[in-house]
Amino acid sequence: MNLEALYDWYRREQRALPFRGSRDPYAIWVSEIMLQQTRVEAMLPLYERFLARFPNVQTLARAPLDEVLSFWHGLGYYNRARNLHRAAGIVVREYGGQFPLEPNTARSLPGIGPYTVAAILSIAADVPLATLDGNVRRVLARLNDSEAAPGDRVFSDWADDLLGARGDVSPGLHNQAMMELGARICKPGRPDCDACPLAPGCLARLRGGAERVAQLPRRSPRVAPIALDMELYLILDASETRVLILNDRESHFLKETWFFPHRLSGLPDGVRATAGLEQLCALGPCRLATGRFRHSITKHRIQGRVALVRSNLEADRLVDGARKNGASHHVWKTVSGSNLPGQVASSMARKALRLVDTNVLAGFAPD
Ligand code: SF4
Repeated sequence: MNLEALYDWYRREQRALPFRGSRDPYAIWVSEIMLQQTRVEAMLPLYERFLARFPNVQTLARAPLDEVLSFWHGLGYYNRARNLHRAAGIVVREYGGQFPLEPNTARSLPGIGPYTVAAILSIAADVPLATLDGNVRRVLARLNDSEAAPGDRVFSDWADDLLGARGDVSPGLHNQAMMELGARICKPGRPDCDACPLAPGCLARLRGGAERVAQLPRRSPRVAPIALDMELYLILDASETRVLILNDRESHFLKETWFFPHRLSGLPDGVRATAGLEQLCALGPCRLATGRFRHSITKHRIQGRVALVRSNLEADRLVDGARKNGASHHVWKTVSGSNLPGQVASSMARKALRLVDTNVLAGFAPD
């Protein structure tokens, strides 16, 4: 395999990304976590905003989790942010603020798997670990004309072999070149084999041309989607200026994120409710808002509807009432309408808010 051609192509064609060229493990770490399940174009503005607010591991570790989550809005999959925050605390407390460069120690940090360790350590510290993400797997399946299943061990063997054949090139450059090739040239739909620096050694292309290439890699069997129903309650206090929200530390989807009280049914373990509609409507007149929203999270397809509840209680008493009905892992508060979009900013909450009569929200006083 002519890896020199790959490295030349990468040096020439690589995208100018803010974390490229950085040897700072923290900046690389944040970029790698954000890029999991998020496209690079969507992640870039949020990455720059995040690093401007949390420029190093110390500022991130010191910041309240709520604030870190608020800088994660738009990226989704909030567990990534929670793990990043927890891991930052460990790096500061146990490793003097230095990201551990020993692979097993790095892997023990929350939210850091073999791929992330290999990416951070190879790029920041020249540790010879091969990165193996979906892009690299696709390139390897095609180079080797293989129908191996995605989790097959043979992929790490091939990735290690290629890394071992890199000559004088740094492990970080090799890994980034492989990932860039998968992202830009050896794409899932239409690979641009004519522009590929590895084309002369690509077995799938040599043996079966474009038709064979399009069959690889072998797809995982499709997972059937799970249909869920969500009733979501937007509860106003007596003055109709504040809304009751909660932070559920054991929520199925939005753990430790401010959201509306809700009832979720269709999960394998039955119904999950942060409060029942009966209990909430007992707080005051209740009517269902018109319309429904749809939202997808991983394999879950949520059908949601919003109930608008006008409570007879002042904000403080509303929070007291919710505490009595809720569980110990629920934290309740009220927030003014003007602050609502900033506090309850997940994409699912935004969809729900769009269903509510805008006149109701326009009447809210600022905090
Ligand atoms: S020749 Fe085509 S299929 Fe083979 S690695 Fe290059 S882009 Fe992928």
